[in-house]
Amino acid sequence: MDLSDWLLANEKLLRSSIFFGMMAVMALWEVFAPRRHRLLPRLLRWTNNLGLLVLNIAIARLIFPLAAVGVADFVADNGWGLMNVYEVPFLLAVVISVIALDFIIYLQHVLVHAVPALWRLHRVHHADPDFDVTTGLRFHPIEIILSLLIKFAAIVVLGAPVVAVVIFEILLNAGAMFNHANVRLPIGLDKVLRWVIVTPDMHRVHHSVEDDEANSNFGFSLTWWDRLFGTYIEQPRGGHEGMIIGIHHYNDPKQVSWLHGMLSLPFRAKIGGYTINRRSWDETNEG
Ligand SMILES: [Zn+2]
Ligand SMILES: [Zn+2]
Repeated sequence: MDLSDWLLANEKLLRSSIFFGMMAVMALWEVFAPRRHRLLPRLLRWTNNLGLLVLNIAIARLIFPLAAVGVADFVADNGWGLMNVYEVPFLLAVVISVIALDFIIYLQHVLVHAVPALWRLHRVHHADPDFDVTTGLRFHPIEIILSLLIKFAAIVVLGAPVVAVVIFEILLNAGAMFNHANVRLPIGLDKVLRWVIVTPDMHRVHHSVEDDEANSNFGFSLTWWDRLFGTYIEQPRGGHEGMIIGIHHYNDPKQVSWLHGMLSLPFRAKIGGYTINRRSWDETNEG
C-alpha cells in the first residue's frame, strides 16, 4: 500500500483529527488571550456558525460523495492533467499542485468579492460581527458548492496528486481556523510568518467594514498572491481593537448570526457597494 492509498483510506480520520485538534487549540487560545472583545455571546455564534458548517458538510457529502481526493484519485488513474501529461516528478508535482491550488482559491476569493451575485453569497462569511475560529468555517452552502466545483476543475486540469490534495485540504482547513482566530501573535513572529503564511492579524483586515480593507488580503494560506497583485494591506486603520468587523448596516443578530438569517442573507436587500457593477465611486456603500 503506497502513501496515496493510505491517504485515500484514512483521509477522513486524518482530516477530522487535525480539524478538532486545531479547533481546540485556537479556541483555548481565544479564551485565555483574546485579541478583541466579543460583541455577541460565544454560545450564540458558535452554535449557529457550527450549525452552518454541519449543514455544509452534509450537503457536500450528499452531492459530491467522491470529494476532492476521489477526484484526484480518478484523475491519477486516467493520467489526466498537466502533472501527468508532462510526467512531472512526484515531489515537484505535489509542491506545484499545493501552491497552484492556493493561487486558484485566491483568484476565486477576488472573484466572489467582485461579482455582485457571488458577493451576495460571500457576504455570509463577512457578516459575522465578531472574528474568531468559527468565522473561518461559515460559508453559504451555495458558495461551498461553487468552491467545490472550482476545486474539482482545478484538480482535473492540474492533475494534482492525491497527496497534494490532502495536504491542500488540511492547510485550507487548519489555516482557516488559525487565520480567523481572535488571538494575537508576538509582533516579530507575525511579521516573519507573513512572508509566507496568512496570520490572524493579516486576515482580520479583510473582515473590516471599510471597503478598501475588505477588498484586500484575499489570500487563504500563502501571502504571496496579495503581495504580487497589490491587494496587500499591512494593518487596519482603526487598529485591531478599534476596527469594526462585519458589513455596513448589517447588525441585527437574527440576520447575521442566526442560521436561518445566514441562509437567507444572499437573497435579501439590494447591494450597491464595492463590486464589479459599481459605476459611481462616491455613493455610500450599502454593503
Ligand atoms: Zn472575503
Ligand atoms: Zn475570512
